[in-house]
Order: sequence, then C-alpha cells, then structure tokens
Amino acid sequence: MAGIRIENLRKEFGSFVAVEDSSFTVHDGEFLALLGPSGCGKTTTLRMIAGLELPSSGKIYLDGEDVTFNRASARDIAFVFQLFALYPHMNVRKNIGFPLLSQGMPKAEIRQRVEETARLLQIDHILNRSVSGLAGGDRQRVALGRAIVRRPKCFLMDEPLGTLDAEFREIMVHELRELHNRIHATTVYVTHDQHEAMAMADKIAVMNHGVIEQFGTPQEIYAKPATMYVADFIGSPPMNFMRFTSGLKNGDRSILLDGVDVAVPEIHKDMAESELALGVRPEHIRFSDASALRGAVYGSEYLGTNQVVAVETQSGLIKARVPANRSFQIGERVGLEFNPAKLALFDCTSGRAVPSSLYQETRHG
Ligand code: ATP
Repeated sequence: MAGIRIENLRKEFGSFVAVEDSSFTVHDGEFLALLGPSGCGKTTTLRMIAGLELPSSGKIYLDGEDVTFNRASARDIAFVFQLFALYPHMNVRKNIGFPLLSQGMPKAEIRQRVEETARLLQIDHILNRSVSGLAGGDRQRVALGRAIVRRPKCFLMDEPLGTLDAEFREIMVHELRELHNRIHATTVYVTHDQHEAMAMADKIAVMNHGVIEQFGTPQEIYAKPATMYVADFIGSPPMNFMRFTSGLKNGDRSILLDGVDVAVPEIHKDMAESELALGVRPEHIRFSDASALRGAVYGSEYLGTNQVVAVETQSGLIKARVPANRSFQIGERVGLEFNPAKLALFDCTSGRAVPSSLYQETRHG
C-alpha cells in the first residue's frame, strides 16, 4: 500500500472552480473520507487522484512518486463505484479472479490469490457457488474481493453504498471498516453522509464549494470545528449558534449573552467589536433552575434513551439533548447551563472559529 499526497490541487471547468487549491496527505494505510454536500467537489477530487480527470494545476503524489500526469491505468489504484456490479454468469471464484485473469496472471497464482482473498472476507466456503443465488451481504463481499484481489496501491471509493437501503448500509459500513482494520489499505472514500464518514474514517476532509473547510480526525472535527459550516454540517442535531455582539479580548474567559455572564474557554485573540456566535453542541447543555440564562420550551422530540428539547432564547432557538425522564410543557421557562470547556466561538463575518484554549491542541494538515 502507499500514501497519497495532493498539493494545491485545483480544477476549473471553464470559469467554474470545482476544486480550489486542495492540499492534504493520506498516510499509508489510512482511511480518508471526503465529506460534503452534493456538488462540493468530492468526486472531482477523487477522479483527479484516480487519473480520470486532469487537474488545472497542482500535484498528486502516490507512494512519493509524482503521478499528476500518469494515465489512470499506470497508477495501480482500484476505483470502486458501487459494490453491486458482478458478472451473473460466473461463479464467486471467477468473479473474484477476473481482474487477475485480464492481467494475464498464471492460473495457479490466480487460484492462490483468490483463495487468500476469500478467506480474508470469510467467503471461502462459497467460492464455487453461482453469484446469482447469493444474498446481498455475500454479493457485496464478492464485489469487494474483486477490488482487493489485485492488491492495488490504494482504493478510491465513490459513494459505494449509495444504492443500499438504510439497514444494509449500516451493516456494510461496519464490514468495510472491519476489512480496513484487517488489510490496512490506503483508502479515499467519497460520501455526503456524516455517519458513514464518522464511523469509518481515520481522517475526514469536510468540503464546501470546492474548498476543504477542515481536515482532521472525526473527533477533532466534531469537538473543534474550524468553521461554522463544519459545526453545522457535523452532528445531529447540529451545533447550536447563539449570536451576540462583542469586542472580546485576548485572555477573556467569559462572554455576555442575553445579559448573563457565560464562562467560555480562554480567548486567544483581540476581536474588534463584531458579531460573534457561541457554538454549543446539544449534549453540552443541561437544564438548571439556578441558571440566569433562560428560555421557553418550544418543542421536544422523544428519542427513547434521551430527548431533544428546543428552547427559544433571546439569541435564537437552541436544541438541548437531555435525559428522557422529564417531560416539558410548551412555553415552560427553563434555565440553561453549558459545559464551559466544550464551547466554541465563531466570527460570524468570516465563519471561522475564534482562537481559544478549546483549539490549542488541534493540528490540521
Ligand atoms: P455529487 O455527490 O453530487 O457528485 P460532488 O461533491 O462529488 O457531488 P462533483 O461531482 O465533484 O461534486 O462536482 C463539483 C462541481 O463541478 C459541480 O457543480 C458539478 O456540476 C461540476 N462539474 C463536475 N464535472 C463537471 C464537468 N465535466 N463539466 C462541468 N462541470 C462539472
């Protein structure tokens, strides 16, 4: 397997910039998810790495070698679109071995490789079965086997679970991650689904209009979002924003919100008087009668183990994830308490996080 490095990669279609000066590294054996909404440039980035699209500028390195202008066939990459397409008239063994046969590999070697691959995927007991009679999960494993049997330098996957129903999708997310844990294949995986990215990836690149807004581990991206866009895109419900105007100063440890002092992580920048937003995840809010920060219950959603309660405050509607053992009346006044160590602040003009002790240990790149 091999690492992938892209440097200032850019793709223009006429005057439209689909990918804007992207740079990142996927280390050998890492699983990277390119995550973002439709049209943000995920597939275009992947196609450039695969060699199916030529960049307008920038460089692509595979295993340290500059492959920017190499043909796709010379890159030793497996591109997996959807995991369903199998040859229905062939049995499992022939389906998995087909890519090696087309390469002209000797039959004995193909046999050995196919059997090794089948053992890895735990489908060695069905090698002689016809694929047409297989259950969905086994079909997916056969398709995966066909992709990994070549032992390519890396895998590129473009929404491979896109056509599956929700239940089966969840099973495959688990299987793909398990497989990754066993073979440690360098993988770039395109998805618009935050749950897939969070569950499978070692690193996530969150994209927006051709720009990588943040590159980091799922934990970093969730706990320390670099921008309001990332904070809003990740999490369900997403991070709450409470807007206020302030000239924060380096060293400040509290803000004035709805006339109440709220403790926040230490600020590391002088800010001109500007519109800011306090970012708070729903699970970092609790209701407390003692709190002077108050709001009125707007609605609630019962989720079994907990509930999401919407509260109207002076600074906007916020959602709190709280224990399910208490019921709330619409309009009921509640006090709100935040976990101060987990709060983020954003500059509403740039959308970027205000530097604070919350972000001290974050490393991007
Ligand atoms: P999706 O999941 O919908 O494919 P995506 O994030 O993968 O979204 P891309 O397919 O990379 O997005 O497309 C990014 C933008 O570039 C889109 O606005 C798309 O219309 C545009 N685009 C992609 N390919 C071309 C092309 N060959 N010519 C012109 N515009 C293109």
